[in-house]
Amino acid sequence: MGKQPAIALHGGAGDLARYTGTGRVPEAETLMGDLVDRMHVRLIAGDSALDVAIAAVEVMEDCGLFHAGRGSSPTTNGRVEMDASIMHGRDRRAGALAVAHTLKNPIRVAAHIMGSSVVMLAGEEADALAQDAGCEVIGPDYFLPCDDVGAWLPSSGTVGAVVLDSHGDIVAATSTGGTLRKRAGRIGDTPVIGSGTYADNAVGAVSCTGVGEYFLRTSAASRIISRMQYLNEEPLAASMTILSEIEALGGFGGMIVLDRHGRVAMPYNTTGMYRASIDADGNRIVGSI
Ligand code: ASP
Repeated sequence: MGKQPAIALHGGAGDLARYTGTGRVPEAETLMGDLVDRMHVRLIAGDSALDVAIAAVEVMEDCGLFHAGRGSSPTTNGRVEMDASIMHGRDRRAGALAVAHTLKNPIRVAAHIMGSSVVMLAGEEADALAQDAGCEVIGPDYFLPCDDVGAWLPSSGTVGAVVLDSHGDIVAATSTGGTLRKRAGRIGDTPVIGSGTYADNAVGAVSCTGVGEYFLRTSAASRIISRMQYLNEEPLAASMTILSEIEALGGFGGMIVLDRHGRVAMPYNTTGMYRASIDADGNRIVGSI
């Protein structure tokens, strides 16, 4: 008998309280609620965690509501620089890219890189893979910077998915425009396997959001997985420990985590995190603040 699938999505952690009354919060919640339902139906129908994770992240990249894909805002040199990564838990193959400028869907290119002999590519070399990956090439006019309603904290809006399918495969995927007004050339945790993204069929999967430097310094994603694996901790306990470490260092953000049983945790230490999940028992959560 197949496994009961589970899925969790995030649209970034940050100071969402600033957006109360702008209409953006309900709009994002509606999108995430619909998305998690549609993706769950696909999983029940037998679709793979890989296809579902890519599809979910692409919708969030395209919608312009989050700081990823279309919603990415320019760096200090005036150019958008996007990072993304994806990891397959069956054999821990992974693909990642950093500082991409012209990719409509960075996650699709990350998935293409996952099928090659390298794990990570940066800059023009990542952009150059668009055609091979079946990814549209876009120009600077495509982007709708999402920081148009006031000051954000310098981090929010990365998107991510963690998915367990009915075959027992687990995938994590994350995509971002980086921290807002980031320094040109700066690379955060999102494309770093083990910090922003991690998946292992034997344990679970993690996708992070927040000030990437702290997630890099704590190897956040892989250490959450290690706690689940070696200490037998549940997703919530494991992720809260690492989030507390991040907070003690002065960092903030959040993560979505699921384990191989389809249990889900979505902790954050900001005023909000766009999130949606359906766990293996069918419990559905959609939230932001
Ligand atoms: N973690 C991302 C980065 O540091 C930003 C975010 O999640 O908002 O690039």
